[in-house]
Amino acid sequence: MSAPAPPDGLDDLPPLRDVLAGAGLSADKRFGQHFLLDLNVTRKIVRLAQLGPDQPVIEVGPGPGGLTRALLEAGLRVIAVEKDPRFLPVLAQLAAAAPGRLTVVEADALAVDEAALAGGGPASIVSNLPYNVGTPLLVKWLTGAFRPVSMTLMFQKEVADRIAAPPGGRDYGRLGVLAQALCHAEKVMDLPARAFTPPPKVASAVVRLTPLAEPPPAALVDALQTVTAAAFGQRRKMLRSSLKVLGGEALCEAAGLDPNARAETVPVAGFLRLAAVMGKR
Ligand code: SAM
Repeated sequence: MSAPAPPDGLDDLPPLRDVLAGAGLSADKRFGQHFLLDLNVTRKIVRLAQLGPDQPVIEVGPGPGGLTRALLEAGLRVIAVEKDPRFLPVLAQLAAAAPGRLTVVEADALAVDEAALAGGGPASIVSNLPYNVGTPLLVKWLTGAFRPVSMTLMFQKEVADRIAAPPGGRDYGRLGVLAQALCHAEKVMDLPARAFTPPPKVASAVVRLTPLAEPPPAALVDALQTVTAAAFGQRRKMLRSSLKVLGGEALCEAAGLDPNARAETVPVAGFLRLAAVMGKR
């Protein structure tokens, strides 16, 4: 999975709890801060990410650096984007322990240009995401100009379940259709709230998303978002009714779908056909 770890000072770093205490740092709710301080957990996330050794990893929200340490231990190059400047000194110590392999950027991940961060080359994204911006960040990475090699992301469990949901259940909706139209999406790990410091109110889960080799073109993705917004906006209604303004029964029939079906029974391929028919009109 990874290159042999180069000699560096990572083994000599103090435990993360001591790093937080020593720097007088506590979690700030405004930044969605729930830390992973057990390196066994962060190492497992890095293993599940199945990262290639040659590409850098963009990590959003390193905080005290638990996940960052595991990425560096695996021999990877990391570009970490952190919005809370209080963590910059402890991250600078981490960078000194892995010379040349950790770049820390103080920025809002919603506003950064990932392609520029990665120096114009490919990169994966790994993050224990701040819950308050997790979904907007995922939508940015799914639909933006930069296409990550892979994304291994911690969400609150309910969001992770929606991303990977198959058709036919309550969890299946707009986010899952968008993610699965563009990526292979798989929930790879569940974590209880007590795994975090401080514990959040809900459980969490890690999702690994691998972009498809031949994704649908941007115009089709735009049409897909329009059609799923209408279909799931009124998910209890039949498609003939929920999609009325977009073409209703005729649109469904042109896409080979039963106009009496409800949104949650339509597979991703069915939504893509609806989007393709809409695009032609
Ligand atoms: N990676 C650390 C860990 O696993 O212990 C911290 C994870 S914590 C859930 C989320 C992190 O994202 C915090 O460090 C927080 O300051 C940072 N953060 C919050 N909003 C951000 C944003 N818009 N851009 C970049 N970082 C952000």
